[in-house]
Amino acid sequence: MSRSRVLIVGAGFAGYRAARTLARTARHTTEVTLLNPTDYFLYLPLLPQVAAGALEPRRVTVSLSGTLPHARLVLGEAASVDLDARTVHYTGPEGGHGTLAYDRLVLAVGSVNKLLPVPGVAEHAHGFRGLPEALYLRDHVTRQIELAAVASDPAEARARRTFVVVGAGYTGTEVAAQGQLLTDALVSKQPRLHPSPPRWLLLDIAPRVLPELDERLSGTADKVLRGRGVEIRTNTSVREATSDGVRLDNGEFVATRTLAWCVGVRPDPLVEGLGQPLERGRLLVDAFLGLPGHSEVFACGDAAAVPDLERPGEYTPMTAQHAWRQGKVAGLNVAASLGRGVQRSYRHKDLGFTVDLGGAQAAANPLGIPLAGPLAGAVTRGYHLAALPGNRIRVAADWLLDAVLPRQAVQLGLVRSWSVPLDTASPELAQVPGPTPRPPEGETR
Ligand SMILES: Cc1cc2nc3c(=O)[nH]c(=O)nc-3n(C[C@H](O)[C@H](O)[C@H](O)COP(=O)(O)OP(=O)(O)OC[C@H]3O[C@@H](n4cnc5c(N)ncnc54)[C@H](O)[C@@H]3O)c2cc1C
Repeated sequence: MSRSRVLIVGAGFAGYRAARTLARTARHTTEVTLLNPTDYFLYLPLLPQVAAGALEPRRVTVSLSGTLPHARLVLGEAASVDLDARTVHYTGPEGGHGTLAYDRLVLAVGSVNKLLPVPGVAEHAHGFRGLPEALYLRDHVTRQIELAAVASDPAEARARRTFVVVGAGYTGTEVAAQGQLLTDALVSKQPRLHPSPPRWLLLDIAPRVLPELDERLSGTADKVLRGRGVEIRTNTSVREATSDGVRLDNGEFVATRTLAWCVGVRPDPLVEGLGQPLERGRLLVDAFLGLPGHSEVFACGDAAAVPDLERPGEYTPMTAQHAWRQGKVAGLNVAASLGRGVQRSYRHKDLGFTVDLGGAQAAANPLGIPLAGPLAGAVTRGYHLAALPGNRIRVAADWLLDAVLPRQAVQLGLVRSWSVPLDTASPELAQVPGPTPRPPEGETR
């Protein structure tokens, strides 16, 4: 009997878990293909630590073929889905094109940087959604500190050691917290910069940091960051960005060469092209993660609007916690749709959140219990180690080394500004100049 072809598009939290679930429950009856632009699963919550040099980049990646040996990995990005023909067209890593046919499809393409119509932002800001952007930020920040140390113009030196992060959600808050520790470490090696410490600003239009999380987490983060000298500007947004700095909505101009844009994410544009009902850009699915009218298609994670059965009338938020658990349900429901087991609806109560503030500091509320300080730090790191599907010993070793050794103050300069544009559908890949058309790369199966 031929095996059913299951195609999973996207190997992040949701897609990776769906593939792993299928490998465990229906390995002998399904042929699982993973279509993903990279050969690794990226553990996004630790990305700010990569940007700050606390973790080396490969630590937050988990090899897909190494950990999912029963899935066939096709490197590429889905360009379009033909729901009637049950095929997905994709572009491969070297520019060629291919088509994959499926009996069951799981869409788990995640999200990309959210843009706002603010003049100059697309040109001068960088997002924080992929590994190339984290590598770019680490190098860029290091370079600014090095250039500030030798700048003869005091205004230029001040601008270079001023860093602006827009968006005080968990991404922006962690980027500012980790970044500030990095620049402090770099400056301590540059006697020429003393006594002018780097300046970090964290802005948000909301009245508090971490506006989407519990107020106690917000209070802890606010206290830790302000205590370290980070300037938190709430109820503040950016009116314009230029190559020399940013103008805030109160008219103040902040001279800077660094604008990190962490205002949130929007679903991957692929789902728009399906022509199916969307909810704020996310593909609307039912509580079984199925696409209404297409019993062979499932969607989960950031790209899907999944009814939140714990909060009727709402959709589950875009978090790793939900994506990971939805991936499991998607895998089980795909297997059930092929006659193995029964379909189940997705229901999950938030287990709390952790925000790593760098060093030994964190804000966390596991199971609703608010924690701060080193205890929260230990819980946060323990949570990440438990949640990582691989590389745990390497991550723990990096943390140990970081606790006892100084950070490496070097910039490799491998990711340039133009290769990580803010406006991109592929934050997981660094852009390359001038794509050359290539012959077909894949077959229709
Ligand atoms: C810096 C940062 C920190 C975060 N920290 C936390 C945290 O502490 N806790 C938490 O709960 N959440 C956190 N999140 C949010 C969390 O990471 C996301 O909600 C989660 O990754 C969503 O999972 P997903 O599987 O939907 O998408 P992803 O994990 O992003 O995976 C999507 C996958 O699809 C691939 N893909 C995209 N487009 C295509 C295409 N066209 N064709 C093929 N493949 C494609 C991508 O390469 C990727 O592998 C953080 C996010 C960021 C950016």
